[in-house]
Amino acid sequence: MRIGHGMDVHKLAEGRPLILCGISIPYERGLLGHSDADVATHALIDALLGAAAMGDIGTLFPDTQEEYRGISSISLLEIVIKKLAVQKWIPVQVDITIVAQQPKLRPYINDMRSCLAHTMGLPLTAVSVKATTTEGLGFEGEGLGISAHGVCLLESIPATA
Ligand code: MG
Repeated sequence: MRIGHGMDVHKLAEGRPLILCGISIPYERGLLGHSDADVATHALIDALLGAAAMGDIGTLFPDTQEEYRGISSISLLEIVIKKLAVQKWIPVQVDITIVAQQPKLRPYINDMRSCLAHTMGLPLTAVSVKATTTEGLGFEGEGLGISAHGVCLLESIPATA
């Protein structure tokens, strides 16, 4: 078993969609970034890569590469899961915390969990997504951006399955 941790931050900006864990969330602003800027999925990807000591999202998918412009971060997650499998690692459990003052994310949490569980081939019970505010403190509290933290467990696939 291996444990991994990842964290990410993106700025909130006008004229951008807000996508978290692959789910489109109605809001007046969205996250700025080269991809769809899904900060929660990015934190998860870095947790997965960290657990396998396989680098980080910025190394794997450079924001200088046109092919990743506007790409769904769920597509990036799919690629990462395949890369892990090549190295004989499979995710066992993930836990994500999204830090955002607004909008309220509770109505979307189960859809987020389903999306990630489906993408990673995990049961819903092994995928946790939580949301918190910072009581108005810091850049998340002031609505300047959203941050996310992810942790995961990876299991080594037995050589003779
Ligand atoms: Mg990011």
